[in-house]
Amino acid sequence: MAETDFFSRIPRQFLRTVATVVLTISGLLVVSQARAGCELDVICINEEKSRNGILLQAENLSPFPITYTLRVRARNMSSAGPETVTRTLAALESHEIMTLTRSRKNVVTKYRYNYDWTFGDRDAIHDDNYVYRLPYESGKSYRVIQGYGSRFSHTGLEQFATDFRMSEGTPVHAARDGVVAKIEESNSLGCWRDGCGAHANYVVVVHNDGTTGEYYHLQQNGALVDVGERVFAGQKIALSGNTGHTTIPHLHFAVYRAVDWGNTQSIAVRFATADGLIERTRRGGRYQATPIRQASRPTTSTRNYLSN
Ligand SMILES: [Zn+2]
Repeated sequence: MAETDFFSRIPRQFLRTVATVVLTISGLLVVSQARAGCELDVICINEEKSRNGILLQAENLSPFPITYTLRVRARNMSSAGPETVTRTLAALESHEIMTLTRSRKNVVTKYRYNYDWTFGDRDAIHDDNYVYRLPYESGKSYRVIQGYGSRFSHTGLEQFATDFRMSEGTPVHAARDGVVAKIEESNSLGCWRDGCGAHANYVVVVHNDGTTGEYYHLQQNGALVDVGERVFAGQKIALSGNTGHTTIPHLHFAVYRAVDWGNTQSIAVRFATADGLIERTRRGGRYQATPIRQASRPTTSTRNYLSN
C-alpha cells in the first residue's frame, strides 16, 4: 500500500463557529438583545440600535488577536460598505463592523448574518528568517510523512504543514515562543471519515507577530500547558497521539496566518536541524532536532530572532 494511504490531513472545521441571527422589524426598529452572540469567551457580535438603524459591532474578549469574517443578508436594509467583511481584532479590542439602515419607511426589514473566526492576525508579517525548532526533543529525529507541498493532503491552505511520524505519547516541544491561545485534549478518537476532524486534540500557540503555531492529533489529555501560558521554544508542551482526521499516529505542525472564514494559511518556515538549516521539510526526511543556539543564525533580523 502506498504510504500516502496512511497520511492524515488537518481538518479545520472544528475552529468554525457560525451564528445566524434573524430579526424582524416592523415599523419601529427593535433589537432583541445587545450582545447577540458570544462564543467561547472569545468573540461577541453585538447589535445596537443606532439613530440610523442597526449597528453591528465585533468584540474580542480574548488577549489574542482574532480574525473574523461576517456576512450580512438583509431585506429593506443596507449598509454603506460590502456585505462581507473580514477584519482582525487586536486583543480585547472592539470595533464597528457596519451599520444597517432602513431603505424605506414602514416596511418590514430583516437581516441575518453568519460569521466565523480564528485566532491570529490576517495582517501578520512573518519574519521568514526566523529559525524554528523542530517540534520534538533535541537529539531525536522523526520521519516526515508529509512535507511542504505533499499532495495527499498538504495542499492549498496546508501547503506548508509537516506531518512527523511518531508513536502516541511522544513528547511534543514548542517550535517557537508564544502564548497558548487554545487547547483541546478531551478527544480519544482518530478516524478517516468526514467529520473526524472534530475529534482532534491540539494546542494553538500565538506568536508575537500574530501568526500561530499549531500542534495537532495529540493524545487524550496530552496538553501539558494551559490557555494563557507563555511557552518557550524547546519547552515540552504536549504528547502526540492519533486523534482527529488521521489513521496513523503522527504530529501535524505548521505556522499559520489567519485568512477569511475561520481559515488559516500555512507559512513556509525554516527549521534548525543537527545538520543545519532546512528551508522546507521533505517527505521521507528524518531531521534531528537541535537547540536553536546550535543552529545557523538567521542572516538578518537578529533582533526579532532573539525576541520571539
Ligand atoms: Zn498533516
